[in-house]
Amino acid sequence: MDYQTVLEEIFEEIKPFVSKGKIADYIPALAQVPLEKFGMAVQVLKGNTFFVGDALESFSIQSISKAYTLILALQLIGEGNLLKRIGREPSGNAFNSLVQLEYENGIPRNPFVNAGALVLADIILSHTKDASQTILDFVRELSDNQNIHVDVKVAESEKQAGFRNAALANFLKSYGNLENDVEKVLDVYFHQCALSMSCVDLCQSFSTLANHGQFPLSGKQILTPSQAKRINALMLTCGTYDAVGDFAYRVGLPGKSGVGGGIAAFIPGRLSITAWSPGLNKSGNSLAGTLALEWFTTKTGMSIF
Ligand code: GLN
Repeated sequence: MDYQTVLEEIFEEIKPFVSKGKIADYIPALAQVPLEKFGMAVQVLKGNTFFVGDALESFSIQSISKAYTLILALQLIGEGNLLKRIGREPSGNAFNSLVQLEYENGIPRNPFVNAGALVLADIILSHTKDASQTILDFVRELSDNQNIHVDVKVAESEKQAGFRNAALANFLKSYGNLENDVEKVLDVYFHQCALSMSCVDLCQSFSTLANHGQFPLSGKQILTPSQAKRINALMLTCGTYDAVGDFAYRVGLPGKSGVGGGIAAFIPGRLSITAWSPGLNKSGNSLAGTLALEWFTTKTGMSIF
């Protein structure tokens, strides 16, 4: 398959759609990112990487970070303990819904809604000396890039405007589903969301999930194949929020999106693929990014279905 040609075709055809979405300006620092950015990368498992546009430029990964903290939390406390505190069903609601958390008595629907990710941050805080450093080190290892950093301006900006997340964390605390101080949990969460990575970094890091839990560069088993299967299933059913049905229908891949406009997806056993375009659709997923992934699976005839 000539991936480079496919990516270049998509890069040309996507141009009219790139500025159609809306930037996540509820995090003021993200409002500064130019709407016209677009990058896309494909990394073939144990093979070459192909990319177009702004695929080497770092951007705010936001909720894509929840994939990494889910892996870490699973490693730290195991599946049985994790599932006592977080569910595994699609939310059908916005990623920052408060009402759902209340009527489900403080048990987040899944690890990828904000409430679920706050519980993951709490677990990492309880079981490591420095949660934010642990997350950063892990992401650097998975991406094979020691230069990955947290954009502290973005973290600070989200903290200043993070009233909904503060409300979710306080709700969780009132239901006894946070062990640590609300402030500390929010701090870890805002820092993980502010990780700055490129499409190529994301492809490398997601190749472990595509490779049944084994880091392809060293052969190190990060997750058991069974754990990787479960995380991948969660991404397919919960990774793009209340648009997850539409995403599965159109793109046909497990993946994780973030309000920075990134989407990281993969075909198990085959490749990882990422797209970045900061303009979002109304569910908070990249509008052009989703379209680009849809065109990739349509043009190549490759998906998980
Ligand atoms: N930091 C963002 C928030 O909490 C992450 C949301 C997202 O990327 N969907 O609102």
